[in-house]
Amino acid sequence: MSGDLKIGILGGAGRMGQMNIRQISMTDGCVLAGATGRPGSDVVGQDAGTLAGVGSLGVAITDDTAAMIAGTDVVVDFTLPDVAVEAAQLAAQAGAAIIAGTTGLSPAQEAEYEKAARHVPVVRAANTSVGVTLLIALAEQAANLLGVEYDIEVLEMHHRHKIDAPSGTALALGEGLARGRGVNLEDVKQAVRDGHTGERKAGDIGFATLRGGDVAGEHEVIFAAEGERVLLGHKASSRQVFAAGAIRAALWTKGQSPGLYNMRHVLGFED
Ligand code: NAD
Repeated sequence: MSGDLKIGILGGAGRMGQMNIRQISMTDGCVLAGATGRPGSDVVGQDAGTLAGVGSLGVAITDDTAAMIAGTDVVVDFTLPDVAVEAAQLAAQAGAAIIAGTTGLSPAQEAEYEKAARHVPVVRAANTSVGVTLLIALAEQAANLLGVEYDIEVLEMHHRHKIDAPSGTALALGEGLARGRGVNLEDVKQAVRDGHTGERKAGDIGFATLRGGDVAGEHEVIFAAEGERVLLGHKASSRQVFAAGAIRAALWTKGQSPGLYNMRHVLGFED
């Protein structure tokens, strides 16, 4: 319908791309305006709705990212870091808001979102689920309340196809935990342990990564002290929770000023 938010999906044939297309087809107030695919891939030219299993939507997957973004109000990106950065630049030029879901970006690549956010609303979310947004808030609070005698470890498991580690969600949890403790994550992050590591350093935030099967995403924060452990966790049993959050974030950008936001803003946890 006219007045509906026009959403463009990057990587429309990907696991999350297809989920996002399905979510749009079930959500009032928005419409799939375009979808991209990797240049040279078989999916270019195919109907995005048919590929996503919701029947023809009359939107062919294109490899012309600039033209696709120019025809949208908001672009939803769950692809690869290089694709994400190019899309952020194109969206900022075209005046389209961005839902930035891709993980594994370098600090220099992340900085591209800050640049884009001067021109358009950018929702940067390594995890778009309601549950993980809550978990990060709780973890921050717990880290603030519990002293350094509680060693913090973040454990995560994902499917065998995931290409970055620790997961973006684990790192976002780490950022929240470090905020709670009033330190910089980079100063206390311990992501690799192998061989003769020596004793654990007080104040470190450790990360452990498991990969296998089809796990959509599991995260646990462990606060371990002498005599007790406190566990906070989240298990996603379907990628649909991420798509629901991403499309909710897309609708939320309507009427927002340019700026860098996260899921806490979208869900009203933070002004
Ligand atoms: P995927 O490999 O299934 O999908 C990525 C898609 O992008 C593929 O179809 C690929 O062909 C396509 N692609 C590659 N180059 C392209 C280009 N130049 N133009 C257009 N499309 C291109 O991966 P996935 O499981 O959907 O995950 C994608 C990203 O989203 C990862 O970084 C993952 O960690 C992240 N993710 C984030 C959340 C969240 O809540 N924020 C949830 C799940 C996954």
